[in-house]
Amino acid sequence: MKRGVAPMTISYKDRSVTFEMPGWYCDECSESLHNGDDLEVSVRVLDQLKAQQKNQRIAQSAATAGPTLSAQD
Ligand SMILES: [Zn+2]
Repeated sequence: MKRGVAPMTISYKDRSVTFEMPGWYCDECSESLHNGDDLEVSVRVLDQLKAQQKNQRIAQSAATAGPTLSAQD
């Protein structure tokens, strides 16, 4: 096994994102091992995805509520 990155796709509701997941990857099979720091990368990506989903939902509800409302954080 050797250190490297490989594309990984995370999905959350109707969104998904592909990112470079660091870890130990096997040359001969699709086996991979991830330490805590590696997993932290995927947790951060998932958090971003959740935040995007939330912002999108606010934007959608503002759009249907009428032009006088604006979306704020
Ligand atoms: Zn292997």
